[in-house]
Amino acid sequence: MTKTIYPGQTIGIIGGGQLGRMMALAAKEAGFKIAVLDPAMESPCGQVADIQIVAPYNDETALEELAEVSDVITYEFENIDYKGLKRLTEIAYVPQGAELVRITQNRITEKAEILKAGAPVANYIVATSSVELNALIEEIGFPCIVKTAFGGYDGKGQVMLHTKDDLKQAQPLFDHGACIAEAFVPFTKEISVIVQRNGNGETYCLPVGENIHKDHILHETIVPARVSETILTQATKAAEQIADHLQLIGTLAVEMFVLEDESIVINELAPRPHNSGHYSIEGSSISQFHQHVRAICGWPLRKPLLHQQSIMVNVLGEHVVPLSNAISKYPDWSIHLYGKDEAKTKRKMGHVTILTEDINRTLNEIEHSGIWSE
Ligand code: AMP
Repeated sequence: MTKTIYPGQTIGIIGGGQLGRMMALAAKEAGFKIAVLDPAMESPCGQVADIQIVAPYNDETALEELAEVSDVITYEFENIDYKGLKRLTEIAYVPQGAELVRITQNRITEKAEILKAGAPVANYIVATSSVELNALIEEIGFPCIVKTAFGGYDGKGQVMLHTKDDLKQAQPLFDHGACIAEAFVPFTKEISVIVQRNGNGETYCLPVGENIHKDHILHETIVPARVSETILTQATKAAEQIADHLQLIGTLAVEMFVLEDESIVINELAPRPHNSGHYSIEGSSISQFHQHVRAICGWPLRKPLLHQQSIMVNVLGEHVVPLSNAISKYPDWSIHLYGKDEAKTKRKMGHVTILTEDINRTLNEIEHSGIWSE
């Protein structure tokens, strides 16, 4: 049963990072109150929340406390303890449920569900030991990528194998449990579609983003992705099929590869707002955060319309000082910083969004600013 949650009521968020913060800021515009559970006091979301519960994410008493103060509960990251979330669904209103987290926490269940939804994934095998991997590898051939089923992100927990001789390099991954091995996809571009759905089945995708990574970390998102209409249509259709199959409530980010022959392959899913959707705060008529709040609060969704072509660039620890020094030079840049105290190298500290009539000119401007040079 879906409910309607009204302004003045409290949204509880598990996780106090930047995604929680941007969700909270969107929700507060409509007059919602925010409670957040995070191990750190004054986390990025804690700084803008009405209530901070400071405890580990799977602390039972803390989850009960969150349930007590919240009229609806959501989460900002998928690596929450599934059992804790499942229990929470029994004592609180969690419209997203726990099933989506269970499925997307594990690459094996994730790939199986994508296939069941009728969307394509890279050819893959599942192995529980390196012996099994060696026995099955011929089914996909080389080059291939071995990934731990649980707990990998930003390229961690992955090994690329070029020949049979490389197989031993995958052995340590099995210390973390079962793995999948998937065929290397010779992609020309990486894109993502953020699909959002409410309990009435209303579904909208944000305009498709083209993602450029540096050192396995998202660097830039260009919107709309510079791909053909055929690919944009296929990508959006695949995301909608997956959302429908999973009976999504809330937000699902679908990361995809684009191939030379204009086909797409789904890489992975994230059941929450996504870094590649941050441009939507300025670039779209409805941001991923506002739409997420509407979806979990049982409100009608709004059709996202792109105001203008947009580029989002991530601001990591090493970019904060050069960016601050350049603020006066770039009045058209929308600058977002997440309130993290320590600007560690490679840590996501904020992002910049630029709306533009000329993508190439703006890409040049970003490059020549010197802020993101090595
Ligand atoms: P993932 O953790 O699965 O998102 O992978 C991190 C990055 O590794 C992706 O963004 C791709 O650039 C690359 N990658 C992952 N899987 C494949 C694949 N099957 N073929 C080619 N590149 C891949």
